[in-house]
Amino acid sequence: MRQITFEIEAECPVTRARAGILHTPHGDIETPVFMPVGTQATVKGLSQRDLAEEIDTRILLCNTYHLYLRPGHELIRQLGGLHRFMSWPRAILTDSGGFQVFSLSGIRKITEEGVVFHSHLNGDAHKFTPESTVDVQLAFGSDILMALDECPEYPVSHEYARQAMQRTVRWAHTAYQHYRRQITAMPTKHALFPIVQGSMFPDLRRECCAELTDLDADGYAIGGLSVGEPRPLSLQMVEVSEPLLPRDRPRYAMGVGMPDELGQYVARGIDMMDCVLPSRNARNGYLFTSQGRVIIKHTRYKDDAGPLDPNCPCYTCRTYSRAYLRHLYQAGEILFASLATRHNLQRYLDIMRRMRQAILLGQFPEFLASADAPPAQMV
Ligand SMILES: [Zn+2]
Repeated sequence: MRQITFEIEAECPVTRARAGILHTPHGDIETPVFMPVGTQATVKGLSQRDLAEEIDTRILLCNTYHLYLRPGHELIRQLGGLHRFMSWPRAILTDSGGFQVFSLSGIRKITEEGVVFHSHLNGDAHKFTPESTVDVQLAFGSDILMALDECPEYPVSHEYARQAMQRTVRWAHTAYQHYRRQITAMPTKHALFPIVQGSMFPDLRRECCAELTDLDADGYAIGGLSVGEPRPLSLQMVEVSEPLLPRDRPRYAMGVGMPDELGQYVARGIDMMDCVLPSRNARNGYLFTSQGRVIIKHTRYKDDAGPLDPNCPCYTCRTYSRAYLRHLYQAGEILFASLATRHNLQRYLDIMRRMRQAILLGQFPEFLASADAPPAQMV
């Protein structure tokens, strides 16, 4: 039985883009969608009210690795699950923790059974298995769970990439068997997505897709992107994977991308994306606007009385000048992070909404080619 359902409303006749609705236990999500990242059960600098009421975020991504280490999944379960713990009534997707284990944690040992790692907080040893990461995410009560995968760094040999991909496939099957047993007894619904790996090798990506579609999952993720590879390669990996994934299930490209890349992924059949860039760059003073990137510390904004982005409806742009934002940034004020994050996320979500609208109207190719597509240049 499907835990979440996906309804396709329109498909672009020229590209692979589609517009749809993802029906989850915590609300409907219009796709294509960008998911803000709430690593520690918070999007840094914003309240849940800001996210829901100001920006109309429908789904957040939270990190299993971080929340497992602190405050711990048992505590979150005890307090009613992640939705209640963080007072977020809308949908939550959690990753499997695999990416953080491979990128953040200390000495790790990968075996057939799982991965042993050391906490980046205090060095304690922990183990993630395909079964345990399902249990941790079910304790959170996530609407969408991700299966444990091995995300190799870039570049890596074909032989290593093949071993990691095959291990990811075996782990996904183990995770599914466990997940199916667990959810039959649960009154609530939770979907589990497996993750396509295979580094930058088209043959491995294809093989991985073929193996994972046997699982008949509610959705499929494409992982191992944004690990330092050139952008055309990541797009190519999506291009080779997408036609092999079931058309009627959502596809999620993990960890992408820059504003000018969002359309490129959507054009290749991607329905869901996430990235720390809009929030992390905001805190560092890199702001994405309809006129290009604004680096707010530049002297040229010192006495700029205009809004950050004249075309943006967000609270920051409606209320404050570039000069004031620059002042807050230079003074290291907390308010800067909050105002900047609000704007950058609004920008991302607006791009997604405009793309969705264009797909529904049958004008997506025009959108991609038009001035509406965000420029990549700096201002
Ligand atoms: Zn704005």
